[in-house]
Amino acid sequence: MQTLRDALLQAEQRGAAIGHFNVSDLVLLKGVFTAAQELNVPVIVGASEGERSFMGVRQIAALVKSLRDEFDYPIFLNADHTHTLAGAEEVARAGFDSVVFDRSALPRKENVQQTREAVTALKAIHPAMLVEGEIGDIGSGSEIHDAMPEPGKGLTTPEEARQFVEETGIDILAPAVGSMHGMSRSMVQGASKQHLDIERIAAIRKAARVPLTLHGGSGTDDDDFRKAIAAGISIVHINTELRVAWRRSLESSLANKPDEVVPYKILPPAVDSVREVVKSRLQLFNNTQSGR
Ligand SMILES: [Zn+2]
Repeated sequence: MQTLRDALLQAEQRGAAIGHFNVSDLVLLKGVFTAAQELNVPVIVGASEGERSFMGVRQIAALVKSLRDEFDYPIFLNADHTHTLAGAEEVARAGFDSVVFDRSALPRKENVQQTREAVTALKAIHPAMLVEGEIGDIGSGSEIHDAMPEPGKGLTTPEEARQFVEETGIDILAPAVGSMHGMSRSMVQGASKQHLDIERIAAIRKAARVPLTLHGGSGTDDDDFRKAIAAGISIVHINTELRVAWRRSLESSLANKPDEVVPYKILPPAVDSVREVVKSRLQLFNNTQSGR
């Protein structure tokens, strides 16, 4: 079975990025998996601390593993933004493929020290698990914000990226390159798009010499995505767009069938809505209409 490290290498070789989509329930997981399957491309399922506490760490691990095994499919599981070593150790024991160990809110020195300690501790538990570290400010909360914070101040420099990777031994780096978690109301309406600092991405990739992840991808301009992937982004995170699709579809499904109480008759349109969003993003990230 292909590892996430293999899949990242192959994606980079074909000029693509792997889509990372957060899930909170089986509706989202089905939407993500069936979209990837239809396009025959690898995919990463993400579960943040909140999403994991709702679904259960071992339960989401078992669900993703069951899809991987039954369909012999390159579907991977990432523990998104994990703020404690205990939480990261828990997902290592549960067999996650990767973890975002996020101490980016700390001063640089403490972020380096804690991330380096985490890499050592986690590789001792699960040597194949990839550890992603984060520097710079990419906001918080994959939800709808009244206004998006200004990304300008906390952007990562290539030299910071190089030092952070060397000092911590991380496998993947999440730099701040213009994207922010969540979406503004005008982004949800499609009236405005988020833009990325493409030159910075290229310079960071060269300096860091590890795969880069773009967090907070929802609402980003399509052309910026293409250029960012060409410049060295290997993983793109999408969450808020899926949550918006999930909620809207669920609302209309409930409104359309006011007397229906059977969940498996109410929920399929929500799976379809999530799948359509995931498909459109995967096509873009993989630069393809179909086929791997
Ligand atoms: Zn993120």
